[in-house]
Amino acid sequence: MFAPKDKPQVIVPVRLDESSPISFQCSKDLSCFTKCCKEAHIILTPCDIIRLKKRLKLSSDEFLFVYTALGTIENTELPVPVLKMREDEVKSCPFLVKEGCGIYEDRPLTCRYYPIASGVFHNLDESQDEKFFALVKEPHCMGHDLGEELTVGQWLESQGINEFEEVNKGWTELILRRKSLGPFVTIQEKTKQMFFTGCYNVDSFRRFVFESKFLDIYVIPEERLQKAKEDDYAMLDLAIDWLRFTFFGDPVIELREQFAEGEMIEAEP
Ligand code: SF4
Ligand code: SF4
Repeated sequence: MFAPKDKPQVIVPVRLDESSPISFQCSKDLSCFTKCCKEAHIILTPCDIIRLKKRLKLSSDEFLFVYTALGTIENTELPVPVLKMREDEVKSCPFLVKEGCGIYEDRPLTCRYYPIASGVFHNLDESQDEKFFALVKEPHCMGHDLGEELTVGQWLESQGINEFEEVNKGWTELILRRKSLGPFVTIQEKTKQMFFTGCYNVDSFRRFVFESKFLDIYVIPEERLQKAKEDDYAMLDLAIDWLRFTFFGDPVIELREQFAEGEMIEAEP
């Protein structure tokens, strides 16, 4: 995810788990400092967007418009925002400053994972989904085999990844369920648009909830609604439940009586 689009990542073909040892240390003193922040392919997760829009004091619409291009999540047809690199000679990240990452505390998940790649084996019994890892070794990166040995789990913890994964859990599950349908099931444009708005454009989804027929159709408990009005993470949570209900029929949102009895539902963002 972090490598330039046209240059393949060098993934070491050894399967790792959270207890596997690695040695890696990134430092300003290395000659490669910030090389990884140029010509990078960084997909943005729902949690990344909420943190960055807050940090930059932008609405999610503004953030997506200014900083992202549209990409696709591999093998799913599902849309995902990708961070737009600057149009300078080296295609540097828009957040790169002389001292390094200018948004370090809110850097995206992809940047936090590096140099670890992760994947999931999706079993039919979802309780048994299995996460696995691998090491990414790119020729320009000098941080390998430096510093103290630590486990993959310790690395992930040191990068604050668990907090992001928790926020992104519903999004990740939607992607895995889409993947499990296989490549021959195509997705309509309308479905892609709903997924995009629900997962990435929290302010647009908020308008959809409060300014469309949404509340005439769905019963949302008052306390949940109030929380979602003020809190982006709560609004994302509501959006994910709405997507689960709409795409898969999961009973996580309640329809008002007349709609439960089959009346047409027309609201969409
Ligand atoms: S060690 Fe690797 S991750 Fe750190 S600055 Fe150098 S290239 Fe980037
Ligand atoms: S967000 Fe920060 S760490 Fe990530 S590529 Fe940009 S400057 Fe580098």
